[in-house]
Amino acid sequence: MAAKAQIAKNGAVLLGDSVACDAFNEDRPLRIVTHAHSDHLGGLRKSLRCCQKVLMTHATRDLAEKLDESLKLRASSIVTLDYGEPLRFGDERITLVKADHILGAAQVLVEDVDGIRVAYSGDFRIDDTPVVECDVLVVDATYGSPSCRRRFGVDVRKLFVSMVEKRLRGGSVYVFGYHGKLQEAMQLLRDADVSVPFVMPQRVYSIALVCKQHGMRLSGMSLSTDADGRELLEGDLPCVAFYHMNSRGYVGLRNARICLSGWEFTSPCRQIGEREYLVALSDHSDFDGLIEYVKRSKAKQVITDNYRMSHGAVLAKEIRKRLGVSAVPMPKEPGQTTL
Ligand SMILES: [Zn+2]
Repeated sequence: MAAKAQIAKNGAVLLGDSVACDAFNEDRPLRIVTHAHSDHLGGLRKSLRCCQKVLMTHATRDLAEKLDESLKLRASSIVTLDYGEPLRFGDERITLVKADHILGAAQVLVEDVDGIRVAYSGDFRIDDTPVVECDVLVVDATYGSPSCRRRFGVDVRKLFVSMVEKRLRGGSVYVFGYHGKLQEAMQLLRDADVSVPFVMPQRVYSIALVCKQHGMRLSGMSLSTDADGRELLEGDLPCVAFYHMNSRGYVGLRNARICLSGWEFTSPCRQIGEREYLVALSDHSDFDGLIEYVKRSKAKQVITDNYRMSHGAVLAKEIRKRLGVSAVPMPKEPGQTTL
């Protein structure tokens, strides 16, 4: 059963006989993109040229094109699948299952004629991710170390909303984060009836529009370069400005600032500057969530992703120890260490 799944040196997650997820593999006719984050788009141009089919959700296609405008994802080899809509290829059946991570994110299930089920979780947050029961599981290991636990005892989303509400009384509030998470933060605020205008640069705006097209409830958005947006920001009027983390060093320096980061385990909120706070809003499961997922999947064999994060070996060891399930990290040597 071991050969049913593996992770190649370049990070390609190989499932069953035909599928390579999240990086190119020359022996696999099917490429799957689980979601639009860059560490899951490896060799996509090559896959578009060489693979018979490149599968992803509709939302992932739209989002990936916005995140990298040089990507053209309209080729005939692209097949967009809905969650739960199976695709037959040879003797295998491939299904994308929702993952709670960024818009469009999917888990992958490959079933063969003998009924063996091989699954890849992709990146996920356990909260709203349905666990895929399977025989062999490839699992994300981003927060795969026992030191990566968020046992805060508070609802970080509610905390974020109340921090923004409080600071809006003093003028504009700047929120910094990565693409996808910024749009999630917008929706959290709107769902909590925070009705002030949202202001953002072009790129954040165009990604928000994709999220809106795919059902996220976003409204009242202005471009920071338009007259409306400029007036709000220059006048320090009550609004929330959303910027990519990379802009942290040069915008909103005198304003209330909230940075959204998954790499925070000591407290749900920490002051990092005079008017700047870090809030532990993450789109990945912490260590406990990863263990919980593996347990509920009932997998008999687990491979931890040691390419995208170097916690694969630790997580495999903990799975063996805590659950008594066979688990190995792949590839053996860790790959890149960025998210
Ligand atoms: Zn991701």
